[in-house]
Amino acid sequence: MLHRLSVVVQTPAHSAIAGPLTYDSPQPLPPGSLVRVPLGKRETLGVVWDVEPQDSTFEIRAIGDALHGLAPLNAAWRGLVQFAAQYYQRAVGEVALAALPPQLRELGAAQLTRRLKRPSGAIDANAADTTHSVALSAEQTSVIAEFEAQKGPFLLFGSTGSGKTEVYLQLVQSLLSRDPGAQALVMVPEINLTPQLEARFRERFEPRYGAASVVSMHSGMTPPQRLKSWLAAHSGTARIVLGTRMAVFASMPGLKLIVVDEEHDPSYKQQEGARYSARDLAVYRSQLETRLSTQADPDAAPCRVLLGSATPALESWHLSRPAAEGGRYVRLAMPSRIGAGSLPKVRLVDMNLQQKKTVFSPQLLAAIQQRVARGEQSMVFLNRRGYAPVLACSSCEWKSECPHCSAYRVFHKIDRSLRCHHCGYAEPVPRACPSCGNPDISPVGRGTERLEEHLAELLADLRRPDGGAVVVARIDADSTKAKGALEAQLDQVHTGAVDVLVGTQMIAKGHDFRRITLVAAINPDGALFSSDFRAPERLFALLMQAGGRAGRDAAHSAASEMWIQTMHPQHPLFAALKKHDYPDFAASQLDERRIAGMPPFSYQALVRAEARTQEAAQAFLSLASAAACDVPDVERVTLYPAVPMGVQRVANIERAQMLVESPSRQALQRFLLAWQAVLRATRSQPEAKGLVRWAIDVDPLSI
Ligand code: ADP
Ligand code: ZN
Ligand code: ZN
Repeated sequence: MLHRLSVVVQTPAHSAIAGPLTYDSPQPLPPGSLVRVPLGKRETLGVVWDVEPQDSTFEIRAIGDALHGLAPLNAAWRGLVQFAAQYYQRAVGEVALAALPPQLRELGAAQLTRRLKRPSGAIDANAADTTHSVALSAEQTSVIAEFEAQKGPFLLFGSTGSGKTEVYLQLVQSLLSRDPGAQALVMVPEINLTPQLEARFRERFEPRYGAASVVSMHSGMTPPQRLKSWLAAHSGTARIVLGTRMAVFASMPGLKLIVVDEEHDPSYKQQEGARYSARDLAVYRSQLETRLSTQADPDAAPCRVLLGSATPALESWHLSRPAAEGGRYVRLAMPSRIGAGSLPKVRLVDMNLQQKKTVFSPQLLAAIQQRVARGEQSMVFLNRRGYAPVLACSSCEWKSECPHCSAYRVFHKIDRSLRCHHCGYAEPVPRACPSCGNPDISPVGRGTERLEEHLAELLADLRRPDGGAVVVARIDADSTKAKGALEAQLDQVHTGAVDVLVGTQMIAKGHDFRRITLVAAINPDGALFSSDFRAPERLFALLMQAGGRAGRDAAHSAASEMWIQTMHPQHPLFAALKKHDYPDFAASQLDERRIAGMPPFSYQALVRAEARTQEAAQAFLSLASAAACDVPDVERVTLYPAVPMGVQRVANIERAQMLVESPSRQALQRFLLAWQAVLRATRSQPEAKGLVRWAIDVDPLSI
């Protein structure tokens, strides 16, 4: 007898076969089973979704092998994938297969079975029980008590250096020691930037729960490493999964705790394929896991979720307002730094009073020199890598434009190249102006490379207390390309070999630098008047984060400073920053957003179109907009006109977008779901000829 199954497989975004496919199987297989199935002329990995599928109009084929060695993916995992696909307007198969490690998709059933038989680092039950006895601060103690007493979701609003990471460690520890089957998921925005966190977790838990008890999941891992971590999580061997946004989809049968550290960080939003927010999915997942496990056993422990940040996303902050005002998250607060550490004093330098083209004001330079003389470290950041953003000819109009994009190519002095940061197109710097032959072409503006060079010149005559020359180092995407480079460079900072660290926002996030007592933002003004309504929120978070790197060592914290050079010292954002007053800043931003009807007081989606011409991209969007008049809930949705994207052309493809907004999340969801068919039909209209692709971005982070 044959058993009929519906199976989801990887399908391209808008292909005709968006839904599950029907197959026959000689043996019964429960939902969540992994199977290899024929698809066209090839065989591919699929996940059994349903065992009583609807009738198929296609010929029904038999499945290939089932991956018997693997337990089926559980109902919570499937529910998460189903929700993510629906909410972010993608096919279930696309989300499901993207959530599995690539090697699982490639390996045959036999290969995989061999892999599974190999012993994984078994837990050594005689291992030393090194219970950590950290004396918790009063704030940490009360936060942990509140967490244990309530259901959540929780938002932990804790200053930089208040000991949030220690709270995560404690929560994981108490969960694991109380429940032998429990698993915890701890997410960080960029695991490559936080080797320290991984080290802290391994150090704390591996002696107790074995070498395989802590695994990581992030895109920097090789396919075999990812498969290994995934299998350890899926089988329950791994008790703790540390990962970036992709880890929200880890299969964890015992999941009881999810921590989202630095929950405000934009890296939690996936920017291609299914554009999901891992933070939002984490909250959804915890509720789904709780619902399903208590359905099966009313006494089952809930799966709790904790979002942590010193500068929460305004969405999360708003959701954690008092319950009486409609809040749905429990807000926990840790305002003080551990030990006697105090937050740095914020000093604003009015750049209107400086000579034109000043890079480092004399005050700031003197403060950095003072730090060097005292043997302390400084950190200077600028959000622009490369030497200079543009190269220009002094006698004609030539600038280093990218021939394929509507953007300038950035001058990188280190290898004398012009590189496009959008399409990657790179060329050696020309000897003379390509347009008029003038040999005098020069850099305009500055990036981190030039800043590093300039600062090294300014500090060249100074000596460290040990008599050595001053060391200026740089950390950004360019300096850390080689494997292990970032770790090596961070080490240099930690050991004190570096006096001044120059970098992009990469150095502003999360690192626990002990000897930094001065942090300086050279030119943060761009974000104050950006057309992106989230720019001030991001700038405030970045500056608070950056400031948070200073004075983490109580011995020096009294003298720690955060310097900001600005043309707008009166701006309210800086006033709030001076007081380290996130709640004040958040309140004023939320007021503005409420009045303007912007998120979190409305819900948005963007439709992006890419085409050979800007006309075609916009025509596609405008046609789909005009054809939306019959779509359900259209009256509760505002469709804005199609506009070119900020960087309009990338790699010779023209890009346009259209904003869709509604005061109701449900209305927007229903509208988008129905409107998809219209978008698909519009694609074949003659006016949209030349359209390359389109995609919907629900809850977009930058518009
Ligand atoms: P956050 O994540 O809030 O920035 P961390 O958890 O990294 O803060 O803590 C900052 C520093 O304080 C770390 O070096 C950490 O080891 C230390 N720390 C945290 N909690 C305690 C405690 N209860 N007692 C002593 N030191 C602590
Ligand atoms: Zn010229
Ligand atoms: Zn380019």
